[in-house]
Amino acid sequence: MAKGDSGVVAAQPPQAMTTEEYQKVNFNDFKKGEEAAAEANKALASISNKEFSSATDLAKEWDLAVRPVSDKYGVEIASKIFLKDDKHFMFGAAYSDGNTVRVNSAIAPDVSRVNYREHGYIHTHPWNESFSGDDISWLKFRDHPMDERAYVTLPNGQIYEGRLGGPNGHQRRIY
Ligand SMILES: [Zn+2]
Repeated sequence: MAKGDSGVVAAQPPQAMTTEEYQKVNFNDFKKGEEAAAEANKALASISNKEFSSATDLAKEWDLAVRPVSDKYGVEIASKIFLKDDKHFMFGAAYSDGNTVRVNSAIAPDVSRVNYREHGYIHTHPWNESFSGDDISWLKFRDHPMDERAYVTLPNGQIYEGRLGGPNGHQRRIY
């Protein structure tokens, strides 16, 4: 999810979870989040300055580094994605609220350099289900350029891409 979005859908459990299970895991443990993010950033260090020619390549390599950490802590982890000179994709540092079913990608760190603009975000789900209600809200309603994308990676290795607009954000599986 992203804070400050104009459209907000009611929080709903992933299909894999009952409402009760969802209520048990839907809380922020910022200490755990900090630990998970620090470990994710360590795992990402060797590619943190890499300029990717495609966002799907970025998604794959980011997930290879972050997935084991997301699975270990059982929390969602996110990075913002930036487009440099309208040509190369880079990701910002990883962030986590220490929450199993949410991450506030909007407060993930920026990459503050000239000629960069925000392209979207990538995040993990600790369960095998694509975009959540909050994710779809971002895809449907956020007031930003139409070429922005969101990515979600799953424990089973699948990665989905969604882009702005349409009833469900034009989702497609890319891995
Ligand atoms: Zn999500």
